[in-house]
Amino acid sequence: MNDKNSDKEQILSLNDTFRFSCHKGISCFNICCRDVNIFLTPYDVLRMSEGTDLSSTEFLKKYTITLLTDEGLPLVVLKMLDDESKSCPFVSDEGCSIYLDRPWSCRMYPLFSSEEGYLLKEKPSCLGFQSEKQWTIAEWKRAQGINDYDKMNDLYKSITSHEYFQKGNRLDAGRARMLYKACYDIDEFNKFIFKTRFFDIYDIEEEIIDKIYGDKEELLKFAILWVKFILFSDGMFKLKDESMNKLLQEKNRE
Ligand code: SF4
Ligand code: SF4
Repeated sequence: MNDKNSDKEQILSLNDTFRFSCHKGISCFNICCRDVNIFLTPYDVLRMSEGTDLSSTEFLKKYTITLLTDEGLPLVVLKMLDDESKSCPFVSDEGCSIYLDRPWSCRMYPLFSSEEGYLLKEKPSCLGFQSEKQWTIAEWKRAQGINDYDKMNDLYKSITSHEYFQKGNRLDAGRARMLYKACYDIDEFNKFIFKTRFFDIYDIEEEIIDKIYGDKEELLKFAILWVKFILFSDGMFKLKDESMNKLLQEKNRE
């Protein structure tokens, strides 16, 4: 039974439409940026740290808390302010102060991801649904710049949805930390590969090194592939030491 104070929910697909508009001046402006759980992906952290002119290390320390899932995967959550309304640290009278780099879930709202499609949640407190402005889901995603986020998030999901976890495995603390450092703390990973003997150990083509040098998005893609190699022996990383390579190949065949 739907009463007028409860959320209305429906599952939509890409070509389905919904009516919605959010803008400064609407009387509910900013109320949705309070007391909310926002889970951040590695790409969210990369963009938000750039949007706040902080290193990923500083951003994570200042604005996030990290929990662990049952599988030992890091769950990074945006820390709300410790004020009465538990506001997002980035909300201002003008709206979101990091609008161009706001996270995936803020872009998607009022849509949520769901296994069956896109979940539209109509909250009675959100007056955006009274608008006549109509969107298909595909148009909404384009307008909110979600497609770039989806590509990066899908790559990260190739770690979190890996069959390794479906078989009931769990990461130990050391591996969970390695994953977090490589994927979420991209400036730390940058130091790790460019300021250590990483390229003396791994046989990486010059072209790839050039591509990831100074380009954090390419570096994040590289970090995700490296983590998959370390955790699951997936992928094409080769060591320079031939004897170590043979050992690895044998391990991969087991
Ligand atoms: S509650 Fe809805 S309409 Fe109001 S500011 Fe938030 S998203 Fe926009
Ligand atoms: S990041 Fe921006 S859009 Fe998201 S909750 Fe905070 S202020 Fe609102």
